[in-house]
Amino acid sequence: MRPIKATISLGAMAHNLRVARSHAGTARVFAVVKANAYGHGLSRARRALAAADGFAVLTLEEAANLRLMGVEQPILLLEGLFGADEIATCAELDLWPVLHQAGQLDWLERAPPARPLHVFLKFDSGMHRLGMPLSEHAAIVERARHLPGVADLTLMTHFAQADEPAGVDWQLQPFLRELGVYGLPWSSANSAALLRHPQSSGAWVRPGLMLYGGSPFADLTAAQLGLKPAMTLQSEIIGVQTLQSGEGAGYGLLFRAERPMRVGVVACGYADGYPRHAPTGTPVQVDGRMSRTLGRVSMDMLCVDLDGLPEVGIGSPVMLWGAGVPVDAVAAAAGTVSYELMCALAARVPVVEIE
Ligand SMILES: *Cc1c(COP(=O)(O)O)cnc(C)c1O
Repeated sequence: MRPIKATISLGAMAHNLRVARSHAGTARVFAVVKANAYGHGLSRARRALAAADGFAVLTLEEAANLRLMGVEQPILLLEGLFGADEIATCAELDLWPVLHQAGQLDWLERAPPARPLHVFLKFDSGMHRLGMPLSEHAAIVERARHLPGVADLTLMTHFAQADEPAGVDWQLQPFLRELGVYGLPWSSANSAALLRHPQSSGAWVRPGLMLYGGSPFADLTAAQLGLKPAMTLQSEIIGVQTLQSGEGAGYGLLFRAERPMRVGVVACGYADGYPRHAPTGTPVQVDGRMSRTLGRVSMDMLCVDLDGLPEVGIGSPVMLWGAGVPVDAVAAAAGTVSYELMCALAARVPVVEIE
């Protein structure tokens, strides 16, 4: 059998949820499990994160699956309704949709559900992605409050720079100043805001990445944040080459040896979810020792430096990311974020679940 595998730790996710809770104060915690729980598997995440106060997903299918799995906590639909036809299911399954554009209020008005819904009214406080204009809050809140299909209202916004020095206050303060008059519960914090900006916690926080052991910050590692990696990607050396000075390895011979050296070929490539743009020098652990990738990542293989590792050979274990190799470090080397690497774990990689 091809030696690649991903190990998903339920215990790490449960631990990271406790870390999230320790930052949340009195706020309740939605565990964000969209995108197949950031690649970790919806069912696994549900079991590992059973202590969450609620779950947040993107689609009706994900929400319905969670209900089938026995989830009784509130379920938030982060982008709300994609059509009026989704209203009935929301009522049936007691899902909480986000309403981020006026058309969604129109749908509710025209076809009110049998059972009125708890809705999250989303305002744009400066990110300019989803959300209704903060300047129009009076008319919007008034309208939402009187819709027969609406039972409860929570106010919501999302931050553009919670992980950056600019922070959240330039968005949060106007949001609270404008909307504070209503005395309604509110929700704003993703992982970065929850970890670094406690004033943003409100009634509900919405951490995703941190639950899986990723750091949202460029300047702080997950370990420094007290988080444990939930996903480990491992494989083995399946070939060893000896290069002479000047010889290259991999497509384009992008890496060239400056002196005679041994190169290990690992059974892991971009079709497994390893980033193709990871350059020479991306960290990797070979037989428990730090090394680096060499040259271009292929579809099913990549090369690693065996210089100084004479005992390593075919069958030696390689950790692509996990406890010894932070997924954030691999992502940074490849010019992306750990979110993308976790979500991209390919279906062909066998998953081993551990406690
Ligand atoms: C995905 C998402 C989150 C979670 O963000 P993380 O950075 O992964 O913590 C929170 N809120 C909304 C609206 C989202 O779409």
